[in-house]
Amino acid sequence: MTFDELGPLKIEEHYFPSLGLKAYVVVDNTALGPSIGGVRVSPNVTIEEIARLARTMTLKNSIAGLPHGGGKAGIVADPKDERIETFFRAFARRIKSLEEYIPGPDMGSNEESMAWIYDEIGRAVGLPEELGGLPLDKLGATGYGLSECADIALSFRGLSLKGVRVAIQGFGSVGKAVARFLSEKGAIIIAVSDTKGTIYAPEGLMVKELMEVKKTTGSVVNYNRGERLSAEEILSIECDILIPAANPDVITMKNVGSVKAKIILEGANIPVNLDAEEVLYKKGILVVPDFIANAGGVIMAWMEYNHRTQEEAFNAIRDKIRKNTGLILERSLKEKVSPRKAAVAIAKERILSAMRYRLVAK
Ligand code: NAD
Repeated sequence: MTFDELGPLKIEEHYFPSLGLKAYVVVDNTALGPSIGGVRVSPNVTIEEIARLARTMTLKNSIAGLPHGGGKAGIVADPKDERIETFFRAFARRIKSLEEYIPGPDMGSNEESMAWIYDEIGRAVGLPEELGGLPLDKLGATGYGLSECADIALSFRGLSLKGVRVAIQGFGSVGKAVARFLSEKGAIIIAVSDTKGTIYAPEGLMVKELMEVKKTTGSVVNYNRGERLSAEEILSIECDILIPAANPDVITMKNVGSVKAKIILEGANIPVNLDAEEVLYKKGILVVPDFIANAGGVIMAWMEYNHRTQEEAFNAIRDKIRKNTGLILERSLKEKVSPRKAAVAIAKERILSAMRYRLVAK
């Protein structure tokens, strides 16, 4: 766990003896306001991972101009456990007084889980529509933001969305939505993957059909055309844009040499480790970091928190992500640093400046 000039401010480890359950919360920084971040549910989640994700949220919320700091929670459990509602409700009661943390959905949690938390403590974002929420996964908030990010990133390589070849790792909420928005804008989805493998068709895959195949058979590899490859092979497919939208740390020093994309948009959080990102930068591959590219979800969550409409939320995602992608790529060119370094510098400037006024963050 690393501590620096931003945080983390609080690290909580919870144990529930009667359930045999563990949970973590990290409040990274609250200089800009109460922290917002998702609740990750996975049998493998660690406190270190939650701390890294909380920092990503601090930077993401700052650069998106939201009046919120960054936090994250982890429940160590299988999301399909039949006691999952009990787990969420028990976890919610434990964090009732931790008012500087506002929970949202993440891997393994969804609108229903947020409704349980809200029912217990009156504090959560990403709620179902019936409770006044903007269901960000159903609406594809993050995927929409990624498609707008793609448009700007491509312009820095002299390309446009029409006919551009895209590979997407992960075909869950983010992967499906970005495939849909990009293909509507004229891009060609040449490969997608899930845990079972990759389906690759250089002439292009039909996104609607893929969704149906995933829904009815459980995996994209059952698509009846194209070539079936291993799950890892998606990362080395030659394409214009690669979007890792599944797990953390999928591109590392071990496999970075095999990446053949021109542009990488980080749909997942921390999918490329920092050393590997530097290698990609030196090779001339443009990488838009997670906290810029995938901010659509939290922007929509924040709009929901402020009782704004769906249309206002989509407009905010479009405007903020286009502006910030342009801003960091310009600064990266001007200062000859990676887009991540440029983005961290911009996000930190705002937080450090706010910290001067806030005793609470000191
Ligand atoms: P999800 O659970 O809906 O989907 C994840 C997908 O990844 C599934 O299709 C799964 O089969 C696939 N997958 C898992 N391991 C894989 C592997 N090794 N190879 C290929 N595919 C694999 O999750 P999601 O909501 O789409 O989130 C995906 C990532 O995006 C996570 O890192 C999450 O933190 C990040 N993220 C999500 C949002 C959001 O709005 N949902 C916002 C910001 C960031």
